[in-house]
Amino acid sequence: EAFIPKIIEVNYIEGSGDKRWSSHDFSWTKELEVNNKKVFGNHSFRPNQREVINATMSGCDVFVLMPTGGGKSLTYQLPALICQGITLVISPLVSLIQDQIMHLLQANIPATYLSANMEWTEQQEILRELTSDYCKYKLLYVTPEKVVKSDNLLRHLENLHFRELLARIVIDEAHCVSQWGHDFRPDYQGLGILKQKFPNTPVLALTATATASVKEDVVQALGLVNCVIFRQSFNRPNLWYSVVPKTKKCLEDIDKFIRENHFDECGIIYCLSRMDCEKVAGNLQECGHKCAFYHGSMDPPQRAFVQNQWSKDEINIICATVAFGMGINKPDVRFVIHHSLPKSIEGYHQECGRAGRDGQRSSCVLYYSYSDYIRVKHMISQGGAIEQSPLTSGYNRSNMINPGSILETNTENLMRMVSYCENDVDCRRLLQLVHFGEKFNSSTCHKTCDNCLKITNFIEKDVTEIAKQLVELVKLTGQRFSSSHILEVYRGSFSQMVKKNRHETVSLHAAGKHLAKGEASRILHHLVVEDILVEEVKKSDFYGSISSILKVNEPKVCNLFAGHRIILRFPSSVKATKPGKSDATPAKGSLTSGKQNVFPIDTPQPQTEVDLNLSAKL
Ligand code: ADP
Ligand code: MG
Ligand code: ZN
Repeated sequence: EAFIPKIIEVNYIEGSGDKRWSSHDFSWTKELEVNNKKVFGNHSFRPNQREVINATMSGCDVFVLMPTGGGKSLTYQLPALICQGITLVISPLVSLIQDQIMHLLQANIPATYLSANMEWTEQQEILRELTSDYCKYKLLYVTPEKVVKSDNLLRHLENLHFRELLARIVIDEAHCVSQWGHDFRPDYQGLGILKQKFPNTPVLALTATATASVKEDVVQALGLVNCVIFRQSFNRPNLWYSVVPKTKKCLEDIDKFIRENHFDECGIIYCLSRMDCEKVAGNLQECGHKCAFYHGSMDPPQRAFVQNQWSKDEINIICATVAFGMGINKPDVRFVIHHSLPKSIEGYHQECGRAGRDGQRSSCVLYYSYSDYIRVKHMISQGGAIEQSPLTSGYNRSNMINPGSILETNTENLMRMVSYCENDVDCRRLLQLVHFGEKFNSSTCHKTCDNCLKITNFIEKDVTEIAKQLVELVKLTGQRFSSSHILEVYRGSFSQMVKKNRHETVSLHAAGKHLAKGEASRILHHLVVEDILVEEVKKSDFYGSISSILKVNEPKVCNLFAGHRIILRFPSSVKATKPGKSDATPAKGSLTSGKQNVFPIDTPQPQTEVDLNLSAKL
């Protein structure tokens, strides 16, 4: 009599904080503790590890949200060791799989993997072993492609299941299921077949990044039933966040920042392009830093060499694209610098997360300029031109279900990153955590981000009229100019360019002369973030450079003129900026002399405003 599980509408149960899962009275408790020490060499469990293990071993479907480095692997490797049968692990990258298997074999845990680029005979041998009554493997790793495309594998899994030897199905990096995530892999969407075929086998889905919509997607696509969710705070109290205006002397600023705060300490500088990596690394070397670059067009031994040098502290700083970082476990990374705009808040959070694994205070500094937004946007629209994280780089783009919607998602993710950077009022932690669906009380930031450090109070101001004027101005000048040009006209410039185009005769010329440059540009950029104005980016045929034109998005403009108000925040008491000191570097010795002034608080632009709604939307 087959047992048909009843599917209940409510699809998940909050597991964190439920005392049941932290009990030490499960029949397997003793065995867990012994093996955790003996086989894995751990003295204790980290937050949520015991709970997750107890829930999955009780037979529940479990969804785990745990920051990178939190110890997700143990939550399935330990059960795999002590349960009957085989644990199937789906993991997105062969290199990640190989790394895991190496560690398992070192601990004497029999594990293997199947991937499409393996010799056929080797695959056959592993499959044959699965059919054996005395199968030696405890864990079988596969890539998602393998599950979706290999009927042969599915038949072997059915056979294992029939013999009650399929212990558990693990989906690692589960956010790859979702188009909303930053690492979408189409084949992950086909993994729902596993729950259909093996409805009673417990599924354990693991990820370090999931917004509410990603979580929804994952639970849906995998067909998880009454899933127990464990999530822990993504806040990293020992990371200090700041965003600094990126100027022409950005490289000087970075050199100075490192010299004064992290001299001879270990760090990562994320750069947008391969060329940038080499340029930044070269420059810092000249300044006397022990530094190298790392990117996707280096061959694997070269990359491994650099990574190894860095791991052994033979060099301090690595200038890398996002290709660098996955699976990196260096505990004493003291700073992560973003030389240009990251592509999404999730990516940014994860990249910053590589700092301070040892719990010691570390800095995350992002150098932001609006023109980098134009650059990244252009690269995204070109597809492929931009370096990908290793998770997404391996697959063929023609696999994509809907390339158009991917482009849209990427653009939207980028936009949120822009509004994060433009926001100079709200707590950086709050802005990040809201994005992960987490509530956060900014007062617990304790001035460990630039915004909390400099803002004491703010007032709200209605800037709707200014916004309307800016939109009008874009129209009056024929939707042919860049945002910086529009700002010049609005603030009443008489530059050659303005004169040449006779903008000084346009009715709104100088209408915004009472505004500081920073104020006007923040409002304009806000209109772009809100999709009321759109940046049309293109490569100029002549010089091969990128240019951008501001256009009006009519449907959204209607809202603006139909009574929709735009409220922005202004700091009402801003810490006085010391005259003559406009570089983006904190005071010397600040790091040792206490918790103040660690952040570059003197910025070239005046403090301005930010929309309240932004944080709600982020
Ligand atoms: P994640 O997959 O969540 O990013 P990993 O599973 O790769 O993290 O674990 C990160 C590191 O933490 C590994 O080096 C692992 O050995 C270590 N680790 C995991 N659990 C524990 C524990 N209970 N005690 C000590 N170290 C642990
Ligand atoms: Mg992992
Ligand atoms: Zn803060």
